[in-house]
This record gives sequence, C-alpha cells and structure tokens, in this order.
Amino acid sequence: MKKVKRRAMSVLVIILCLIVGIGTFTYRFFREGRDWVNFTANKHIYSNGVLIGGAIYDRDGNALVHTVDGVRKYSDNESVRCATMHIVGDKKSNIATSLQKVYADQLMGYNTVNGTYSVSGKGNSIYTTLDSDICASAYEQIKDRKGAVCVYNYKTGEVICLVSTPTYDPENPPTISPEDDKYEGVYINRAISSTFTPGSVYKLVTAAAAIDNIDDIFDQKFTCNKTQVVNGQKIVCSGTHRNENFEQALANSCNIAFGNISRQLGWNTTVEYARKLGITTAHDLSGIITAKGNIASSGGDNELSWTGIGQNTDLVNPFAMMRLVGTIANHGVCVEPYLVEKITNSSGFRTQLGLSNGSTTRCLSRNTADKLSDMMRNNVVSKYGDSNYPQNMEICAKSGTAELDGNKKSHSWFVGFCRNEKYPYAFAVFVQNGGSGATVAGGVASKVMAAVEEKVNSQ
Ligand SMILES: [Zn+2]
Repeated sequence: MKKVKRRAMSVLVIILCLIVGIGTFTYRFFREGRDWVNFTANKHIYSNGVLIGGAIYDRDGNALVHTVDGVRKYSDNESVRCATMHIVGDKKSNIATSLQKVYADQLMGYNTVNGTYSVSGKGNSIYTTLDSDICASAYEQIKDRKGAVCVYNYKTGEVICLVSTPTYDPENPPTISPEDDKYEGVYINRAISSTFTPGSVYKLVTAAAAIDNIDDIFDQKFTCNKTQVVNGQKIVCSGTHRNENFEQALANSCNIAFGNISRQLGWNTTVEYARKLGITTAHDLSGIITAKGNIASSGGDNELSWTGIGQNTDLVNPFAMMRLVGTIANHGVCVEPYLVEKITNSSGFRTQLGLSNGSTTRCLSRNTADKLSDMMRNNVVSKYGDSNYPQNMEICAKSGTAELDGNKKSHSWFVGFCRNEKYPYAFAVFVQNGGSGATVAGGVASKVMAAVEEKVNSQ
C-alpha cells in the first residue's frame, strides 16, 4: 500500500513539474517569442546579419527599403537613402531607434500563432508618414553639417520629415573610424535621441508660463542695459534693448527681460511648464521612444534666470521642440506626432490595428497658445524678415543661438510653424555649432518649408 502511495506521489510530482514547465514555456513564448526569432543567427530572417524580410515605404508608396530577389535594396535616390537612413536603419542594424530594429518582428511577419511563417515569404510592409522628397530636400540643406530637421502636420500628427546628420548611404557604407570627427555620433538620430542646449528657443516655454501665471505680463516694461548682476553673477544680453514690453522682449530675445520673468515665475512653475509642454518627458513616436530633455529644478536666482533663458544646464531634443511649436500652432492642443501609418501583410491586410495615431492632449489654453502664436508672427515680421520665408505660409517662429562652454561655436536653432492652415506644418531645425540661429538654422528652415509649400501646391 505504501509503495502505491509513493508511486502516486512521484507521478503527481512529475505532473506538477510538467504543468509548471509548460506554463513557464508558454509565458516566455508569448513574452519573448519576438526576441527569439530576432536572433541574428536565424537564417530564415537574416542573411549575413542583414534583415531580409519586409519593406518600408514613404507616404506616397515609394520604397525606402525592400527585398528584391533576396537582396535588400534601398531607395534608388541617394539623397533619399542618406536622408532616411536613421529612421529606416542600415544593413548592419547600427541604429537602435530605426524602424528596421524596432519593428524587426513586424517586418519579418512574426506572429505568435504562425511564428515567422508567411505564405509569400515576403514579410510585412510598413507604410510611414514620411515624405521622401521633403526628407531629401532637408538633407541637401544640412548634409555638410551636424544637426536635425523635423517637420510634422500639427493637425494630424503625421511626421513628414525627420532627418539627422551626419549620415551615410546605407547602400555604400563608408569605413568609419571612432576618431573621425566627420562621423561623430553617426549612429545616433540627433532629432530624437540626443539633447542639446536650446538657448533662446526655450524662451517660448518661459513665455507660455508667463502668460498663464503673471497677470500683468503684457503691461510690464523691462529695462535692458545689456548686463545685470543677479545673485553675484552677471546676466548678459546680446544687445542693449533699453525699454521694451513682453512682446518686444521675445522679438529682441532679451536675456535681461527673460531672466526677470523667470524670477517672477520661480522654480516650481518653471519646472512644471517644462514638463507640461513635453520638454522634459520622453515621447512615444510610433514605438520609438525619444530622449527626455532636462532642466535644473533648484539653485540661486542667477541659475533660475539662466534656466528660463534656455542656458544653465537646459537640454532639449529637436523633436520635442517641434512638438511644442506644433501645439502652439494648433491652438494649445497637441496632436501627438507619429510615423507609422499602417502595417500590412503581403495580401494587403492590416496586421496591426489600433496604432495610436494622432491622439490629442490639451497642453495650453487656446488663449495662451494664440497669444504666443501672435508673438512668434511678430518675431518674423519685426526681426527675421518675412521676405526671407515663403510668402504664403505666414511663418511664425523663434530663433535660438545657444552659447556653449569654452570656445565652442554656438548651436543654431530655428523653430516655428505656418499659420496659414493650407500648410499645417510645424518645424524644428537644429545645426550643431552652427552659429546664429536666425541666419543658419533659419536659412535651412526657409528652404525646407519652401519645398513643403511646393509639394502641397502640386497636390
Ligand atoms: Zn536685452
């Protein structure tokens, strides 16, 4: 009897082990199956480490990468290949935030029921919102410098341009040595994964906080004598602006006025608005997570002044700046930028439903956003020169020339949008160590937006 009991117990233990084993496997299969098939030794999916399945298209159906007779091919146009390399990804998967890396399982057609089985063996297709003509045009403007150009539709959220330089042709990758400054940070998408000192483009965040929190901000007068000592440190302005009101202070990009405004706001409001306007938070761009910006949260009045001016330890990425000006353009409602329109299998059916495209959040009141929009329009008309930009677009903008430690040349920024809603596009242009914001980045923005205007008019 004892023997039978012992045997029964043993069988029970074996059955229990089996159940736990199957349970663990099933759990891991659903959780990690995607990673298992992504393993680069999987010859069904990779050939010499190069992903061979799936295709990525731009918004007009032009192939950015696809497989023809077992060979991975990029666009026929070299500028398009260089311009979209960071988003599409190179053949060796060097770009961690590329679609080929982030959507590898989707491209190869993996699903938990069939594994990577696909009737045609072609994998899936990702249709992006990118406009390869605009990307190529932006690349041509910035290819000899390091930087980023971002453009999106502030009403729908579609990102049409996201270019990062330095880049290279994925069909003819150069030999890149770590010491070569020309290719410094080439595998990083500067538009979404890097953060830089914003300089005066950050004054838009401070201005938004001021409109909401300082009752008489539009009646205040500021006096700028070029320098002012705050808490023992000299705040320096680029000019001597004498007497100015709030709107003129933004157009003059006056450090003395914006230092004063920051001190009126205090640390808590300064930090709150950086978060509320998406500067210090990460964003989900169709599954690609962007880098968080950073601003200081405490310190003396001198540090508070420099924080609101966009200096101190402030860091932001170009994508977050584009999202911010798009929110201002859209009367305070942020339509979340996105990149992937749809994913289809080889029969043309959608494989993934419910992509959270174009979700909206109110970040600013309509009144505050529209006042900022008027002030940004005034910047262009009174300072940057409206004739320097496409005439029908009604460009509203803010420049930034971010000073850096040591003898490094300033970063050049230009961010803004078209107020004419026939062209509902917002942009952020960043040129690393580019010098003057309005001249350098502003010049790039003008040419890119002219290409956008031409494209819209031709449709
Ligand atoms: Zn000034």
